Amino acid sequence: MPTSTFSCPPGEPLRAWRYWRFAAGTGRLASVSQRGFTWEPGAPFRARCVGGGHAAPDPGCSCGIHASSDLASLRDQALCLAPGALVVGEVALWGRVVLDDHGYRGQYASPCRLWLVGSPAGDDATLKSLGEYGVPVSTMADAEAVGDASAATRAYLAMSGPAE
Ligand SMILES: [Zn+2]
Repeated sequence: MPTSTFSCPPGEPLRAWRYWRFAAGTGRLASVSQRGFTWEPGAPFRARCVGGGHAAPDPGCSCGIHASSDLASLRDQALCLAPGALVVGEVALWGRVVLDDHGYRGQYASPCRLWLVGSPAGDDATLKSLGEYGVPVSTMADAEAVGDASAATRAYLAMSGPAE
């Protein structure tokens, strides 16, 4: 399938959507991928390709900061979500951006708005930690954030074992 690369000048970032895990231990957003990179407040997150030996994102790889053009596309991409505190948000993406079947893979990103998904235990503490990112924070229902099927899966997983 076609892949294209383009550049966004810093003044004109793309707006896109993605999920994070909320890492209760650190109070930070963490990438949903296996690598679980931490997103620190106050600094743009920069894509890395671990083991790839090239600058991220690379069109021939899967590296880069993954994001979708809108919430509906994001829901379609992520059908199997881990249990635990989940955050959905809008990000600004800039630098080198690869456009592929699954959406965008960017070089730099910074959250613009965050929603805590569902009502996990310790809601208030989580919302306070998310507030450290300096962007508007609110909550979003599971079904709206991840779709009905994934919301049901998340509810099942939450009942059947420890979240983290
Ligand atoms: Zn790579």
